[in-house]
Amino acid sequence: MKTLLPPLGLITVAALLPQEWDLRLVDLNVRPLTEADWDWAEMVMVSAMLCQKGGMLALIKEAKERGKPVVVGGPYPTSVPDDALTAGCDFLIKGEGENAIPLFLKALAGGQTTGVFESTEKPDMSDSPVPRFDLLDPAAYTSMSVQTSRGCPFECEFCDVIALYGRKPRYKRPRQVIAELESIYKLGWRGEMFVADDNFIGNKEHARAILNELIPWSMDRRQPYSFITQTSVNLGQDKSMIDLMTEANFSHVFVGVESPDEDVLAMTHKRVNIVNPLVESLSNINRNGLTVIASFIIGFDGEKKGVGNRIKALVEAASIPVVMVNLLQAGPHTKLWDRLKKEGRLLHIPAGVSEDKINFIPTRPETEIMSEYCDLWDCLYDPVRFYERAHRSILEMRPTRWALGIKGRDSPVTEAPVQLVPDKFGRNTLAVLRRILWQRGVLAPYRRKFWKLVIDAYRRNPSRIRKFFILCATAENMFPLRKVIRQRIESNGCGNSRGMHS
Ligand code: SF4
Repeated sequence: MKTLLPPLGLITVAALLPQEWDLRLVDLNVRPLTEADWDWAEMVMVSAMLCQKGGMLALIKEAKERGKPVVVGGPYPTSVPDDALTAGCDFLIKGEGENAIPLFLKALAGGQTTGVFESTEKPDMSDSPVPRFDLLDPAAYTSMSVQTSRGCPFECEFCDVIALYGRKPRYKRPRQVIAELESIYKLGWRGEMFVADDNFIGNKEHARAILNELIPWSMDRRQPYSFITQTSVNLGQDKSMIDLMTEANFSHVFVGVESPDEDVLAMTHKRVNIVNPLVESLSNINRNGLTVIASFIIGFDGEKKGVGNRIKALVEAASIPVVMVNLLQAGPHTKLWDRLKKEGRLLHIPAGVSEDKINFIPTRPETEIMSEYCDLWDCLYDPVRFYERAHRSILEMRPTRWALGIKGRDSPVTEAPVQLVPDKFGRNTLAVLRRILWQRGVLAPYRRKFWKLVIDAYRRNPSRIRKFFILCATAENMFPLRKVIRQRIESNGCGNSRGMHS
């Protein structure tokens, strides 16, 4: 099985270390550590996100038992440094590596054997080196990744991006981004490229500058990459930006819609989703050639019963096939965390460790939230409903640039099913297609409906039939999640009746 994305943070850190150091990258999502790795290493450097907490702490302990000095960094140790220090790490690097790694290297050269290093300044990304893509095994990943900026100008209460990276976005220069893409291109990678910005259009001038250099670079190489990124919903009010993105061969955008309820959006400071009409903006993005992957959160303060139905209504109205729904988690050092702590509502479930528990006392009964959460997943990924939404989104989307005979050529052969969960389905396009046709077009009880939608989509928007099947392939990894999520929630006792107004 392939893993979704490469560890971009670790290979960026690798580029910041002295280049005479002999480095070996072991991505534990790809392969286990071997005795030969342990014997070879003089020092162990570990990075982790909150959801990798258990693995990181176990790794620190094992490295210490084997007598290796351990350096840790990344979002989890930055947010919760005490865990890594208690587990026995020798050096802890907080925040972004560009400023903090030089402090660590200086201390190491001076003979220090322990220390916590943090720079008060956020680094200027225009000095960030090209990550060491050469340390990766490209065959192990379904997508490659670059990052052009960090930070986001908005101030959503639950978001840890602003806690970790700040509200003032910082940028790489266009030629740095092109140098990174060129380095990946020379390694032979082709296919999906995730632009791992927190909000690619956080500064539209920057986004345009990148796109203006990316388009000719990409065209000169016959568009080797199909890009995916994250943007705020205001993209839907800027057709010229969408056009530039599709010309550069962006195919999908993740958009944090969070809630269909204006009062909830106001409460969580997601004002960008109030000033930009949601259905209109999301529909505009889809209509102009970019598939939206919408993300919602359930469990906000002040959220009223029936939010699941309101999310369904929004998703249907905007014809969004691929939707992610999450339970609200208060992440350490977010504004939400600080407020809930002050209100005495934080629980002792470590944030980020369980996706199926709420780590605070919600304002309505938790059983009600969990029940709506499970029902929503069931409904969104009911295959017939999904295919109907996918069909509508294809009919509403303009034909490809190639079909319209205009500059750029979106949806070329590099576009692939988007992997939102580890891929159990395979990446070979023909194998994927064969399996969809067999399972949905022959075995499924709704096969007549499936074929009706396929034929209608082909008849009315032929240049987008490939995208229709890409959506179908993406859904193959989502359908089984309904059962998995319900089982996990039920094994947790389906939530309990705690809730401020229960
Ligand atoms: S728009 Fe997205 S990245 Fe920006 S603060 Fe809100 S949730 Fe975070």
